[in-house]
Amino acid sequence: MSARRLWAPAAWMHGAWQPSVVLEIDARGHWSHVAAGVPAPDGAERLAGPVLPGLVDAHSHAFQRAFAGLAERREGDDDDFWSWRDRMYQVANAVTPASLRAIAAHLYVELLRGGYTQVCEFHYLQHQPDGTPYDDPLALSMALADAAADAGIGLTLLPVLYERAGFAAPALRPDQRRFHAGAAAVWQRSRDFTARVAAAGRASEVPLAAGLAIHSVRAAAAESIVELRRLAHEFDGPIHVHVAEQRAELRDCVAATGRTPVAWLAAQGWLDARWQLVHATHVDAGEIAATAASGAGVVICPSTEGNLGDGFTDLPAWLAAGVDLAIGSDSNVGRCWREELRWMEYGQRLKLERRNVCAQPHGAPGTPQGHATRGQPDTAASLFERARAGGGRAAGHAAWGLAAGARADLLVIDADDASLVGLPQARWLDALVFSSPARPWRDVMVAGRWALRNHEHARARSIATAFGQAMSSLWGAG
Ligand SMILES: [Zn+2]
Repeated sequence: MSARRLWAPAAWMHGAWQPSVVLEIDARGHWSHVAAGVPAPDGAERLAGPVLPGLVDAHSHAFQRAFAGLAERREGDDDDFWSWRDRMYQVANAVTPASLRAIAAHLYVELLRGGYTQVCEFHYLQHQPDGTPYDDPLALSMALADAAADAGIGLTLLPVLYERAGFAAPALRPDQRRFHAGAAAVWQRSRDFTARVAAAGRASEVPLAAGLAIHSVRAAAAESIVELRRLAHEFDGPIHVHVAEQRAELRDCVAATGRTPVAWLAAQGWLDARWQLVHATHVDAGEIAATAASGAGVVICPSTEGNLGDGFTDLPAWLAAGVDLAIGSDSNVGRCWREELRWMEYGQRLKLERRNVCAQPHGAPGTPQGHATRGQPDTAASLFERARAGGGRAAGHAAWGLAAGARADLLVIDADDASLVGLPQARWLDALVFSSPARPWRDVMVAGRWALRNHEHARARSIATAFGQAMSSLWGAG
């Protein structure tokens, strides 16, 4: 069978727009050939506008989508991350496999509309609310797989090591019982998920894979992390961990270990290129240098970090150190990568009282690893390239973007969007991030299949109906 062939008037390749691009898809749904400057071949499917790679949402808790917009009222003197978390647990403890599928499917359609084609689920809902295991230990994991298939988005499932309420608490709180998973259970779930979707032929419907996660240094004992590392000795998929999101967590970690979380992980010699540090908000120069030396990446979640009042990370230092950066929707108050990149930059502008913080003028030396930020004066291009490469790695993909060997994912820009009319193409990425288009993606492809066509998702109506029913069951009519 000959390869399926697409042709785009322009495409984002190697960090820049290239004209007249032909893209060929192999039988596995990967790009087999991508070349610019090629007239449209006979029989090629002509795309309706310029194309960008889809991005990876590298950190999501899908169930928290059911809480978005419902935590914006002040109900006590202290309203911070920890009071938010107590209220969020009410949702965590009310979700069933059926409602999780409905919530996640709706979220995943929204993520596709937001320009994401792959999502990493940091998945710590394991048991029934009282801690009793389900008959099928993968009941909630498969609900997420079903949701990804319903929506047509790629999924990297990350079962989470989670076994205590804090450094000084050997057990979980009653409202955390359904999260419990030790090292052996996490390893087994990751393997079983991979085997289950392979046996069912599911991974051919939509790309599904599994990695590993550790909730945080506070929620997992050191010996359990050692055990998980031992089990995963030959595992080359991603390992994600929440770190240094909140100052209280830092204080507790220093009290218990003498070090802050990133410094402690680095001092154990555990970090390597598989690791993804989620948030890494409160870090010092030594921790950034240690992360860079280890090859680990960082996942920043600007809309959630803003919503929760986490604080600002030292983004210029992370960029200068050449650390891989990915973005995540985390609590899913934001479901659009353009919003995340915009807030990545705006947070720094507000903090530093400067503009275009995440770009470099022409001729700047670039970063140690030679990232595409080298002399990249366009802010959106600089952030987009980091999120593209870092996100692909965070999801466990060796290649990500419009290049041979990467998965055949793309976004077709709607050139008729009001925000883009009259702009030179060289500024389109800046306009997509900073000029607030309403509906920029006309078509979205995942692994060679159209998930969105002319702004429409084939199952959006039934998925939204199921989501509405799940919300009613969680929150009632009020
Ligand atoms: Zn998180």
